[in-house]
Amino acid sequence: TIEQSDILNNLPKQFFASLVKKVGAKVASGADVINLGQGNPDQPTPANIVKAMQEATADPANHKYSPFRGEPELKQAAADFYQREYGVQLDPEKEVAIIGGSKTALVELPLALLNPGDNVLLPDPGYPDYLSGVPLAGANLQLYPISEENGYLPDFSKIEIDHSKRNLLYLNYPNNPTGAIATPEFYEAAVKFAQDNDVQIVQDFAYGAIGFDGNRPLSFLQTSGAKDVGIETYTLSKTYNMAGWRIGFAVGNPEIIEAINLIQDHLFVSVFPAVQSAAVTALSDSQESVKKLVALYEKRRNQFFKAARSIGWEPYQSEGTFYAWMPVPKGYTSESFADLLLDKAAVAVAPGTGFGANGEGYIRVGLLIDEPRYTEACERIAKLNLF
Ligand code: PLP
Repeated sequence: TIEQSDILNNLPKQFFASLVKKVGAKVASGADVINLGQGNPDQPTPANIVKAMQEATADPANHKYSPFRGEPELKQAAADFYQREYGVQLDPEKEVAIIGGSKTALVELPLALLNPGDNVLLPDPGYPDYLSGVPLAGANLQLYPISEENGYLPDFSKIEIDHSKRNLLYLNYPNNPTGAIATPEFYEAAVKFAQDNDVQIVQDFAYGAIGFDGNRPLSFLQTSGAKDVGIETYTLSKTYNMAGWRIGFAVGNPEIIEAINLIQDHLFVSVFPAVQSAAVTALSDSQESVKKLVALYEKRRNQFFKAARSIGWEPYQSEGTFYAWMPVPKGYTSESFADLLLDKAAVAVAPGTGFGANGEGYIRVGLLIDEPRYTEACERIAKLNLF
């Protein structure tokens, strides 16, 4: 018999796989399911990027192996993007790493920076894929709570650090699943905490472009001292609707960037050069499509909030991302409420506990379909007389 390795057996069960299965079974039963469960952007990649990709694909120069550490033009474009958008100066060779989507770096980082038994500190609730990196590195998982009272920003005075180990702390703002965004004061506190405790920080900026009500999300690297203690990961998946293209980058502390590059040297031959070329276009061309996309997400959030409030369902006031973080009515758990909505209203949502035990009492709604579908979702939910 062929058996999987212990490391593979120790990987967490992938939460979204079970959700997809449940929703699939409901659809197969013939129900008209309104799927608000996932986080897959529904809009197409902007036409200028697709065209750049088509042209780059036709060029034989792009059919070869690209440099292991990515095309210099893309590293320069990423550095220029951070300078233009955030006023952050980066050395494209030493402070930028090209990655096949940000998930790759987020999962590799514990392996790149920690020894077995060192600590990974993750938010609860938080994006579940961070968990995958922990057993791969033989590291120890330490969850820290984030909650509504603190605007889903952790209270650093309550996070205990074991100084006999290395410690790697993940942040994620704008936040999945809650839609919270970070303040400048919070990032200053994070840098101070990292400096005082010799902690390294990974800030996941996957939703960096998506802020509402005129609040533009800050980059962690805009904070003084941030580059001494950590990095930020960026992805083109959400900003440019390029989730299927698998392209992103990490920026910041040169030692951490070198560690990411080194691990990638051993695991991957770089991303398809034509994709890297199209990514240069995405980062460098007019950003009009991004503005339109953010306006669309803000409109959807406002419409959904209005429909939810009209049935007496008060949302957490999210400030970014394309998620709504909604409380569960009395008498239900996150999971039993999500099951009820799928079963009785054919509305699929993600239970808050899919993001950690501290997500209990909430569900996550992904606003990635067009109206009138969310209003209809709220109408179906209204019929259950829960609010
Ligand atoms: N980080 C967060 C918080 C996400 O929600 C996602 C995707 O949903 C990712 C990272 C991964 O994005 P990608 O690997 O496409 O860059």
